[in-house]
Amino acid sequence: MKWKKFIESRRVVQAAVGVSIYIAVAQYSVPLSWIIVGGSAIGIVTGKIFCRWMCPMGFIMESMMGGGGKDSKMQAMYMYFKVGCPIAWISGLLNKVSLLKVSTDKSACTSCGKCDSVCYIAANNDDFSLYKPGLKNSSSHYSCSRCLNCVAACNKGALSFLPNLHTEVPSQSEGKPAKAR
Ligand code: SF4
Ligand code: SF4
Repeated sequence: MKWKKFIESRRVVQAAVGVSIYIAVAQYSVPLSWIIVGGSAIGIVTGKIFCRWMCPMGFIMESMMGGGGKDSKMQAMYMYFKVGCPIAWISGLLNKVSLLKVSTDKSACTSCGKCDSVCYIAANNDDFSLYKPGLKNSSSHYSCSRCLNCVAACNKGALSFLPNLHTEVPSQSEGKPAKAR
């Protein structure tokens, strides 16, 4: 899968962008308001991507708490609330309408469930999935931080981060029957 290596280098990208932002603010007195406006505006195109690909604080928090998951309340809390950050609030609200979302190619999907198993949205919400028919698309959830772990996990190439207007996983009649996880 062509984007897999790039997605797996997300932490490197986040560190590089995060340090650049820190230097811009601390050394060159770039107003924090510019970062907030810019980070939020990016959400129109990508949704909440700032948190996991660009944010210096997000890098530190993820280093301390991990990437989030079903078994850790602390990790889930970090992913769900990101308390105190207006960029997270605004870009999270934009997740539903952002130009880019994770979309599922139902013709390539084998319902293996790997995508949902690496996604803290699907792991913590019964009504969200990346492949199960009739459920809401996890990438439309307020808390999807565009980590793209789901895209990297799919070795069938069925998931992509592309312009997509669908907010529901294809219905049972349209897609293949889902296997139980
Ligand atoms: S990982 Fe890919 S093939 Fe497996 S259920 Fe998800 S989208 Fe389908
Ligand atoms: S990008 Fe994928 S794995 Fe990450 S939170 Fe969003 S739907 Fe879940």
